[in-house]
Amino acid sequence: MEHAAFTAGIPKVELHLHLEGALEPDLERELARRNGVDPARGTAVEVLVTRADFHDLAAACFRRLAAQDVRHAEVSFDAQVHLARGVAFEDVVLGLHDAAAQARRDLGLSVGLVLSLVRDLPLESAEAALEAATGFREEIMGVGLGSGARDDAPAAFAPLLARARAAGFALSAHGDPARGDAPGHLRRLLEDVGVDRLDHGTDVAGDPRLLALVLERGTGLTCSPLSNAAATGDSRAPVIADLLRRGVKVAVGSGRPARSGGYATENVVALTREADLTFDEIIRLQRNAIEISWAGEQVREEFLAELDAFEVLVAPDL
Ligand SMILES: [Zn+2]
Repeated sequence: MEHAAFTAGIPKVELHLHLEGALEPDLERELARRNGVDPARGTAVEVLVTRADFHDLAAACFRRLAAQDVRHAEVSFDAQVHLARGVAFEDVVLGLHDAAAQARRDLGLSVGLVLSLVRDLPLESAEAALEAATGFREEIMGVGLGSGARDDAPAAFAPLLARARAAGFALSAHGDPARGDAPGHLRRLLEDVGVDRLDHGTDVAGDPRLLALVLERGTGLTCSPLSNAAATGDSRAPVIADLLRRGVKVAVGSGRPARSGGYATENVVALTREADLTFDEIIRLQRNAIEISWAGEQVREEFLAELDAFEVLVAPDL
């Protein structure tokens, strides 16, 4: 069996996907028409205005994920950029939540929503978004730190992340590769904030103390080779594979798939091609992903049972 066919068919978990970065050009054009927005002006997110628009964005993304045999997804949204345009927080969250409920019912895809705090907007806007999110604890599973870059982000956002933790949200944070004082950022996120997961976070590979810490805690890393390649020209596939082989809980996600050339399958295929992953390692990525996910017990058990069945089914062909 080819690795690409194996990767296409394996049941998957997606833990690093920014919904605004999954706005594909055809839907962007349709929403621009619907809302009378000139797509040539401004940024793509300006076409998202109503609760129905956010629903349609998420629903289109969830159909793509289901078509790639993703069974559980934790997807981020950037509330602050929408609040700044006068969109109501509840229209964003409830539109996305409507689509998540439909995906569960119609596609067999379990979805958790993650509020992503935007690093390069004023801290006050992140505070307002987090405050609004506390009114939607049923709909929002976790809080992340991402989108945009700011060199003092871990220190500046630590109190807000602590507040999110106290409100009962699970926590992830971006540790962008090779940016500024990357090891210093990761140390703050791991030691001071105590995040559950790092998005990217591959720079732990260059710091023995951080590597020991993520191994000891079982901290998950959601890596995206295609996003890395789109952002910096370097997929960092060898270091992602090396961390996986050292026993770090590495999973592969998509980041901003409409901008970086692929969703879950394409990212794993790229990593496999560049770093010669074995079939066992491709399976390990999905086991890690469900393990570091925030899914409930039933979703975990169903996923692991399906993964086991997949292994048995394809074993004779390997
Ligand atoms: Zn990201």
